[in-house]
Amino acid sequence: MHSLLKFNSKEYYKLNKERLNNNNKKYYRELRKEIIELLGRKCKRCGINDQRVLTIDHIFGGGKKEFDNSESSWKYYKYIKEIINNQKLDPPFQLLCHNCNHIKRIEIDSQIRKIRKRLKDGD
Ligand SMILES: [Zn+2]
Repeated sequence: MHSLLKFNSKEYYKLNKERLNNNNKKYYRELRKEIIELLGRKCKRCGINDQRVLTIDHIFGGGKKEFDNSESSWKYYKYIKEIINNQKLDPPFQLLCHNCNHIKRIEIDSQIRKIRKRLKDGD
């Protein structure tokens, strides 16, 4: 009985894989749109509002790690949306365009290098 159920759910998944994936993609796109709305619809730094280049940036870092731990991208977006709704006044996320996101990363890297150097030099 048990193995039969398992087989059936596997078969079901196989048969419906494409449909399920499409549902996930649709849900992902809707969630992304909602999060962009919640975060003000434009890049926090340069103000560009072209949604194709906007990324959801974790202000204090750690986004990549959290994303890796998340089973799928829509689940991660769902999690982000919940956090934003719980911390409306000061959400730990912001919208950045790809360029500003890249610049932010370079700035953080250079700050880290400076701090490491200072610690090494014993200041
Ligand atoms: Zn920007």
